[in-house]
Amino acid sequence: SPKRLKLNDKENNQTVFNSANNFHNKPKISIQDQRRKLPVFEQRNKLLDLIKRHKTLIILGETGSGKTTQIPQYINSARLQENGKIGITQPRRVAAITVALRVAQEYGQGMSVGDVVGYTVRFEDVTTKKTKIKYLTDGMLLREAINDRLLNQYTVIILDEAHERTIHTDVLFGIVKRAQKIREERNLPPLKIIIMSATMDVDHFSRYFNNCQAVYLEGRTYPVNVFFAVKPHDDYQTSCVATFFKIHREAPPNHDVLIFLTGQEEIEACAHQIRLLSKDPDVQGPPIRVFTLYAAQPGTQQMAVFQPSQPNTRKVIISTNIAETSVTISGIRYVIDGGMVKARSFHPSTGLEVLKVQRISQEQAWQRTGRAGRESEGFCYRIYTRSQFELMKKTAVPEIQRANLNSVVLQLLALGVHALHFDFMDKPPKESILAAFEQLKQLGAIEDIDSINLTPLGRKMAKFPLDPRFSKILLSSQQFGCVAEALTTVALLSSESILLTPCSRREQVQSVRQKFCSGYGDHITLLNIYREFNNVGKNNKRSWCHEHFINMRNILHAREVRNQLEDICKKCDLTVSSCGGQMDQLRKCLLTGLFTNVAQLYRDRQYMTLDKGQVVQIHPSSDLHGQQPQFVVFTEVVQTNKCYLRGLTTVEGDWLNEIAPEYMKNHCLRYSRDS
Ligand code: ADP
Ligand code: MG
Repeated sequence: SPKRLKLNDKENNQTVFNSANNFHNKPKISIQDQRRKLPVFEQRNKLLDLIKRHKTLIILGETGSGKTTQIPQYINSARLQENGKIGITQPRRVAAITVALRVAQEYGQGMSVGDVVGYTVRFEDVTTKKTKIKYLTDGMLLREAINDRLLNQYTVIILDEAHERTIHTDVLFGIVKRAQKIREERNLPPLKIIIMSATMDVDHFSRYFNNCQAVYLEGRTYPVNVFFAVKPHDDYQTSCVATFFKIHREAPPNHDVLIFLTGQEEIEACAHQIRLLSKDPDVQGPPIRVFTLYAAQPGTQQMAVFQPSQPNTRKVIISTNIAETSVTISGIRYVIDGGMVKARSFHPSTGLEVLKVQRISQEQAWQRTGRAGRESEGFCYRIYTRSQFELMKKTAVPEIQRANLNSVVLQLLALGVHALHFDFMDKPPKESILAAFEQLKQLGAIEDIDSINLTPLGRKMAKFPLDPRFSKILLSSQQFGCVAEALTTVALLSSESILLTPCSRREQVQSVRQKFCSGYGDHITLLNIYREFNNVGKNNKRSWCHEHFINMRNILHAREVRNQLEDICKKCDLTVSSCGGQMDQLRKCLLTGLFTNVAQLYRDRQYMTLDKGQVVQIHPSSDLHGQQPQFVVFTEVVQTNKCYLRGLTTVEGDWLNEIAPEYMKNHCLRYSRDS
């Protein structure tokens, strides 16, 4: 427990306030002066000249040098893009939104985002006809490519944060390369491609883009002292908190701290611990301000992190790898690196995609370290040993080589491309591509495993920004009369969890939420919560959420997502029907998309997946934990030392034959229902 941390070490307290720096007392400099102070500014002309001369260019530079915010503005004011738009991709919606807001602000008096500067992220489009500089997620640009394969609205495309190698960026490499070539062949306005990245091995990228030119932007970085843990720690989260308080005791105020952890739950738990501990009278030092930063937060909330800090305080930001490269936070002198990251990995042999907390790569460790040296010398505490560091991979495996490819293969088909013949920078494993084709065939998106043509259903599926299994659920909901319920369920599954479960109040949470619990399992429970939330009057929603431990922000976001999905459903000619209390309809409907995610009770508390015979258990957080239904359909697999299913609904064995007869020919049930 964090209470065991040594907090009353008074050794150094008398010196704590002595060397307080005064950077927050500096006269406020105008936003235009801030722009001119960025490292990229001095190289503006050289850059513009290179951009003019090369049809493809790689730009490398440290985080904070001004690549993302400045380069599009330079191109726009030099009118290099003529009659088209500049599109800048970001791997994360947060970055796309915050950067667009910032650039709109820099752009000028009263300019609001959506005007010359806009952004497009999943479920939100803030652009107009006037928009010239458009920030968008890599996923959104890929969707746009489906409707316009040559990306004709753009004259410049900047693929930013390319070192992250997200699945969408990797696919976009091939898409923009092809669009550029075809536009050249057809004498259409040329497409300029700019690849931007934090510093990394550039040869691989350059080779792929026909040995294109690369330019390195000098950053301003200062030395960072790196410390390793002396012995390995199992509980990196607690170690981070302990290390923070050690720093807090010793460092002058306004020397801020950035902690890297893996995800929302962990970050919120850590923030809670720090807030609690900071109230301890034994804790000396300036008042602590805790901020969190993760992808699921709305942009406006994340902006709080970027506000100038209060004098004589200590800011601590607990972040996912978002803060590794996509965003810049000033004031950071200390970095605490938990050494872990949450990543998806897909196993074609078991057919399971698992969200796993795993070690970062050495490259990521150095990126994190660099965050401490932006404004002056800094310190980085690594919560792992030197030998653990040496065992880390040099660079992370690109996502495309470890993720489920269903969605990408479907999108490529919608673009008329067969994934096996696509020009990938690094090819994904053939088995993953074949597994995706198999799944698309099972879902009815293609007729045949080697087909390049989508069925009419497949074409509709490609219109949704969802995993094909979820699009299938929506598209078959009409036939079960449960379009409304399917929309709610899919929207809730596509957003961050609406359930708050503070560890200390688990029992209280269970008792207030009891009334929503469905014997059919987690999905229906979520649906019950959503329905009730909708019934609560507008003014009481906040207190209702508080009382029931519901994350208001996430449930409101889910409602937005639901509206967007409803629009797409309507475009696919679905009418919104409701099944009321007939939950069998929804349960069957879930199976139409998720029949490959069925597990059957096999022996005491153990389940076996029908698809590949993997042995799994029900996750303790599931409503169905402790019960032993014959069949369950699941939406998530979590792997710790065992494999657990999370997000469950009970189903009947005979529904399977009814709903997925083809599939069931090859996947027989292991028990008859009444054995
Ligand atoms: P790069 O892409 O090279 O990492 P950016 O263009 O994102 O750099 O940021 C350059 C600088 O602009 C940052 O160091 C910071 O000073 C400022 N900046 C960027 N985004 C914001 C923001 N949302 N709020 C305040 N300042 C920002
Ligand atoms: Mg950037």
